Amino acid sequence: MSRIRFPGPVAFVPTMGALHAGHAALIRRARRLAGPNGSAVVSIFVNPTQFGPNEDFSRYPRTEAEDLALCAACGADAVFIPTAAQIYAPDASVQVRETALSSRLCGPGRPGHFDGVCTVVTILFGIVRPDIAVFGQKDYQQLAIIRRMARDLHMPVRIVGVPTVREPDGLALSSRNRYLSPEERSQAPAIRRALLEASRSGERSPSKLAARIRRSLAAAPLARVDYAEVLDADRLTPPDRSTRRVVAAVAVFFGKTRLIDNIVFPF
Ligand code: AMP
Repeated sequence: MSRIRFPGPVAFVPTMGALHAGHAALIRRARRLAGPNGSAVVSIFVNPTQFGPNEDFSRYPRTEAEDLALCAACGADAVFIPTAAQIYAPDASVQVRETALSSRLCGPGRPGHFDGVCTVVTILFGIVRPDIAVFGQKDYQQLAIIRRMARDLHMPVRIVGVPTVREPDGLALSSRNRYLSPEERSQAPAIRRALLEASRSGERSPSKLAARIRRSLAAAPLARVDYAEVLDADRLTPPDRSTRRVVAAVAVFFGKTRLIDNIVFPF
């Protein structure tokens, strides 16, 4: 598939659909960034290559009619809903791989995930040719990797991050929240509480901060911590004397549902 032309500047929001108020914030931001003469473009594509063999690709929620209504309500000028065959040539043989920022946090537990993300975002950028692309800070590592990719590959696109949109009880909005049982849902705000508590504790040791987060999460008996890490917020490496801000990032299973969240604070 070749380029699709939209009146510029083009502000682009790639998504996997099952859109919620978090996506809506990104689309509204894109609409403002595009200005009156430009285009806010949303893509909806559940990208098979970023799901592992035991992940939820086939049961990932698909809600196209509602998604289109939300895009319209947020001022999207175009919604691009490609098929996998339009994105991937049958004999596609090129991948984009980031090799530093993806080595921690979600990287080890989801082999190939960020390769899938970088490759599909590169393909979507090639089709949509955005001037600006908007991503959520909820997926902190993904945002950092996309920024690095755009920088290292000299992509002519500005990457904009948008703060995480949350439920009133602090749970980060996610398309996967709908998988939670009522009991799991009632315990899930423990994630936000644990991150906030750590960020306000005054603790300076990354390992003690991570241990604190794990201890707080133990208050939710249905939570199983996949990882809890405290890293330099820019380099995603263990903090050192030059570190000014850290990110505390967690992945937590509730049953089969894996939720991620993060908080950035001065160090
Ligand atoms: P997804 O559809 O899950 O691939 O997400 C598409 C975009 O929406 C990504 O840039 C996410 O970081 C962003 N996003 C997802 N949830 C939220 C949220 N609660 N707040 C802000 N952005 C979000």
